[in-house]
Amino acid sequence: MSSAPIGILGGTFDPVHYGHLRLAQEVGEGLKLQEVRFVPSGTPPHRTAPRISAVERLAMVRLAVRDNPLFTVDERETRRSGPGYTVDTLTELRQEIGATRPLCLLVGADAFLDFATWSRWHELFTLAHVVVAHRPGFPVDTWQDRMPQPLAREYAARTLRQPLAVHLAPAGGIVIIPIAALDISATMIRDCIRAGASPRYLLPDSVLDYIQTRRLYV
Ligand code: ATP
Repeated sequence: MSSAPIGILGGTFDPVHYGHLRLAQEVGEGLKLQEVRFVPSGTPPHRTAPRISAVERLAMVRLAVRDNPLFTVDERETRRSGPGYTVDTLTELRQEIGATRPLCLLVGADAFLDFATWSRWHELFTLAHVVVAHRPGFPVDTWQDRMPQPLAREYAARTLRQPLAVHLAPAGGIVIIPIAALDISATMIRDCIRAGASPRYLLPDSVLDYIQTRRLYV
């Protein structure tokens, strides 16, 4: 059985879009991951609650990933009542896959800059590597200035020069991956629909069909 790392991409996916899918594809291929698991949040702890249900966000993620053998969906957070924390999800996953197989937590640069506000964030490094993908608007050359001190210290100590080194340990490293710069956000898509414009070409047609059929975000 392969012991290649498993990638985890959490998010609200409200809705899922091509920014998420390219991130998962490029990091999955670049780091030779076994799979990338999309983990839609339940009630997110870090932001105001999304307006549509977790079941709908989950359904859209399922539609978006269904033709891609590298992608899977993990619905555990959508089943939880109350806030779900990444550290709890990773703890559960770690128990399921055992102590030795590498886990990679995939985040965009914006999410990483917020990292020190996440619940028990130091523990995350004992559970997984953190793989940070470039995101437009969050240029890497200004990161050091925008990171709070405790995060900057972890960043300096944990950054792996060789990204494929995530295969060599179960957790603990930080890797930065440049990906195609797609300046797409779920906020932009919701605003676009609310304004009566089409978000076509920002997200898969299957997801757009789902949104239109249910008249979401109008
Ligand atoms: P919203 O606009 O509602 O805040 P979002 O588009 O940022 O949403 P999330 O579901 O919050 O989407 O993001 C999940 C993860 O995907 C986060 O780690 C985020 O940084 C990353 N991500 C989202 N969009 C992009 C993008 N265009 N490029 C790179 N990373 C992205």
